[in-house]
Amino acid sequence: MPVTPAGCNHCPGYTGDVNADVSLVLDFLNTLDAEDDTDVLRSVADWHAWAHARALTPGAIDEAVRARTVLRDAAGAPADDTAATPGAPKGGGDDGPRIPVDVAFRLSPSADPQLVADDAVSAVFTAAMRLAVLDDWRRIKICPADDCLWAFYDESRNRSRTWCSMQVCGNRVKARTFRKRAGSSGPEDSTAGRPQPD
Ligand SMILES: [Zn+2]
Repeated sequence: MPVTPAGCNHCPGYTGDVNADVSLVLDFLNTLDAEDDTDVLRSVADWHAWAHARALTPGAIDEAVRARTVLRDAAGAPADDTAATPGAPKGGGDDGPRIPVDVAFRLSPSADPQLVADDAVSAVFTAAMRLAVLDDWRRIKICPADDCLWAFYDESRNRSRTWCSMQVCGNRVKARTFRKRAGSSGPEDSTAGRPQPD
């Protein structure tokens, strides 16, 4: 379900637009909608429309699919802060995929240096990198409900949010778990639509 980010954590010296970065990353991750079984990246025309709507150059659709897969896999990582070596770069392992991006470094006498990308996938990666620098990447999460899988931004103070919506996915999964524990032999209610949040 759509969850609009608002009030992100800003670093004092940051001059970019965190909300724009969060929105771009979430929009890209949510080009796949498990609940509605729709996927912008099934169609070149849809992918091009998505990119053009954001004034970006679409690029090859298979690269976009790959980018979305690795970003979804990486969302919320690293999960365990305590495993990180103090002083080591976050996520500093070299065992993950290495994907080239087309990013330019823009210098202006009147503004701080900026990373800019016109290519849609590169722009998403650049936004993700900016969030990582701000320590906000870990707030990008995927709802674990297998019929949801919606990407959302965890604004909670200690980054403890699990579900895109506790009222919807959290309660639904809890109810299922309860039914299973109670030994309910009734069929899973797979035809029910998503309950509407209050
Ligand atoms: Zn959800």
